[in-house]
Amino acid sequence: MTAIYPGSFDPVTFGHLDIIERVSGLVDRLIVAVLNNPSKNRLLTPEESVCLLKSITSKYPNVEVRSFSGLLVDFLKENDAKLVIRGLRAVTDFEYEFQMSLTNRELFSGMETLLIPASLQYLYLSSSVAKEVFLLGGDVSTMLPSQTIEMLNSKLK
Ligand code: ADP
Repeated sequence: MTAIYPGSFDPVTFGHLDIIERVSGLVDRLIVAVLNNPSKNRLLTPEESVCLLKSITSKYPNVEVRSFSGLLVDFLKENDAKLVIRGLRAVTDFEYEFQMSLTNRELFSGMETLLIPASLQYLYLSSSVAKEVFLLGGDVSTMLPSQTIEMLNSKLK
């Protein structure tokens, strides 16, 4: 089975990696899909996020990384996939994820969304918090892989 893990990944955190590692052990093929949406205010470009994710996930032979634009359901169909993976942290994630999963299924019956609970140590970790701490000069080594930190450092030099 092919699963798609969509998101902004701006930038990729240990929380994302944890989901990728756990799910790659469950499915035949996992496509990490970076949303390329021009209206989003990003720090890294989608291409930079793809590049980082590729290098960080290269040890998983069944993980691919791509960017996509437009509807997620169209990307699913293009890749012959019916399963979407999303991570679930606090209850606050739930309402949005529930709404998105129902909307996607309305658009593409037969697809399913699997909501994976975050691991305890990453429950409060988000790209936006990590970015904020990084931009204020704090230590982000428990939040972001070293490649992510290197890219942020070189980008903001
Ligand atoms: P989006 O803008 O689509 O929410 P993100 O890159 O913020 O994109 O998140 C992508 C997916 O990864 C979402 O399903 C999100 O809930 C999940 N995720 C983000 N951080 C974590 C974490 N610390 N633990 C588990 N899942 C996470």
